[in-house]
Order: sequence, then structure tokens, then C-alpha cells
Amino acid sequence: MENIFGLSVPEMENRCASLRIPAYRARQIAEWMYKKGADSFEAMTNLPKALRAFLPSVFSISWAECVQRWDSVDGCTSKFLLRFEDGVTVETVLMRQPYGNSVCVSTQAGCAMGCAFCASTLHGVTRDLTAGEMLAEVLFINEMLRGSDQRVDMLVLMGSGEPMMNYDNVLAFLRLIHADYCLNISYRNITLSTSGIIPGIERLKKEGLPVTLSISLHAANDVLRSELMPINRKYPLREVVAAGKEYGEYTKRRVTYEYILINGVNDSKKDAGNLANLLRGQLASVNLIPINPVRERNWERPPKDRINQFLSVLEEFHITATVRREMGADIQAACGQLRNQHLTESGCF
Ligand code: SF4
Repeated sequence: MENIFGLSVPEMENRCASLRIPAYRARQIAEWMYKKGADSFEAMTNLPKALRAFLPSVFSISWAECVQRWDSVDGCTSKFLLRFEDGVTVETVLMRQPYGNSVCVSTQAGCAMGCAFCASTLHGVTRDLTAGEMLAEVLFINEMLRGSDQRVDMLVLMGSGEPMMNYDNVLAFLRLIHADYCLNISYRNITLSTSGIIPGIERLKKEGLPVTLSISLHAANDVLRSELMPINRKYPLREVVAAGKEYGEYTKRRVTYEYILINGVNDSKKDAGNLANLLRGQLASVNLIPINPVRERNWERPPKDRINQFLSVLEEFHITATVRREMGADIQAACGQLRNQHLTESGCF
């Protein structure tokens, strides 16, 4: 039986046509699932009774099941471990920001990129997520917020996985979540983060979707970046920054560069100067992220004065930069940590 959760209206129209169901029913079903949170055909009261009785014999509607939930002490961050039909789990995070509710979406179960500071990659990648599974992450949280008359306002594709390595499903998900029969989230409220997969950046540039591109740099020289992010050996720093520059010029959208600050590793004045030189003249901004200590690695966040010193150097070079507000450190907010804990406790590793 096919799970239709995650199909677009045109895809559902095709299914309807093969079953001799009028095409307009596809949009009704989609609106029930994606806008009203229906998880059964029985709830779809504007469908004829006979159709409601027939549909469960050919289709299922499968969302994601929440296995565990953690809430930060300040109440701003909630993290969920969600399980899909085949037992695969991913982490999804809700961040309650002053300007709205933001969801951090995982695009793969695990990750193959091998970034040295990231817990998501410790066990490699299990599989790509489908568009429907990414949608299930967001709608799970949207349904939870509905109870308090709120909704999901923004998305960041910064959970586990490299979105560009699951490009087609990610694009299908973005189009789905933006659709008027779904959450209708503006592309401008969506940030897609990549470790610097240049062919993906070039493809995205031509899609005509005004999403914000965020590129993870984390080092301002190739030697250190290759140590922190092995993908740098394939797509080196200057080529990645050049692809980001082109993306900005083509789309007229400001590119964000992510830079995790690790005490004594990449946070010196010289590092800041090198970073400024790399980005000079670009429509870009830098997001500085003091590292969330990762139990499996031995790194610490820099003291405040070192963070401020790094920021001042960038400002001297007129590079727009901000230090990301710490969210959810008390619930192991670094991506992949909770999933790893779950896998270890359940004996998977
Ligand atoms: S930081 Fe992102 S790209 Fe790198 S290993 Fe973690 S999930 Fe993958």
C-alpha cells in the first residue's frame, strides 16, 4: 500500500486518475493532510463517504512518530527524535525565536561528509530522506504548535545530512512546503546550508527559488579546512567561496557563511583576517557559531573576549558578522548528538 503523505497535488492527481477519482479530490486530500493535519481519510469530511471508505484500501497516510523529546531549560528550544515507517530516526529542532518559530530540518539520516566537529557523521549516512519525510518533520512540529495558536514560520536545512547530496528530494520538499495547499512558507524564510558542494550550489542558483544559501566554511585556509571538513579536498576553499560569490551575484541574495569557532583551533586574529580577505567585496555575511562541545570530540568554545576579538577583525574589514545566540546547549543541541545517544542506547552501535 502506498503512503501518500508527501505527494504533491500533481502527483496525487496522477494517482486519482488511475483510480478514476476526479482530479479535484487530490487538492482536497492534500489540504486535509498538510493544512489541517489530518492523519486519516475518515477525518476528510468533504469527501463522499464511499470515497473515504475506499481510500484506506489503496493508500496509507504515515507521518513520523516522536520517540523522544528534550526541552531546554529556557524553554526556547525543543528537540525531537522522530521515527519513520522503516524505523530510521532523525533529529528535528524547534527554535522559538523572538521573530517566529524556526525549525531545523534533517535531510538525511546521518551524514557521509565526515566533518570533524559534527556528531551526525560519526556513524556515516543511513539513507536519504524523502520529500515526505522532511515534510513530516515540519508538520509534526506545526501540529504541536497549532494547540497554542502558532505555526512554523521559518526553516533552516541545517540538521543532519548534506542537502546537496539529496538534491532532488530536498527541492521537491521545498516546493511542497511552499505550496498554497501546504504551509505556504515563503522561500525567503528558508535557509539551505551546505558544506560547499559546488555542483549543488550551481544547480540551486538556476532554480529561481529565492532561498537563502548558507555555506559552512569553518576555516580560512585549505590545510585546516581539509582537517575539519574532508570535503574541502574535493571542493577547496577558494572555489567554494567563488561559487558562493556567483550565487549571490546571480540571485541577488546575500550568502551567509557559517564559521564554527573552536578554541585555539580556528579562532585567532590571523584566522579572522584570512576570512575577511576571502570574503571581501562579496554580498555576504558571516555567522559565527561558538562550538557546542561534542562529547565524542575534544573541543571547547572560545572565551568571550576571543570571540569578540574575532568579530572586531571582521568588522574592521567591513564584513557583516554576527555571533549566533546560543540555543539549547543544555539539551545537546549539536546536530546528531541525540540520535547517536538513542542508537547507542538501543544497541544499534
Ligand atoms: S556538519 Fe553538516 S555536512 Fe558536516 S557532517 Fe555534520 S551534517 Fe554532515
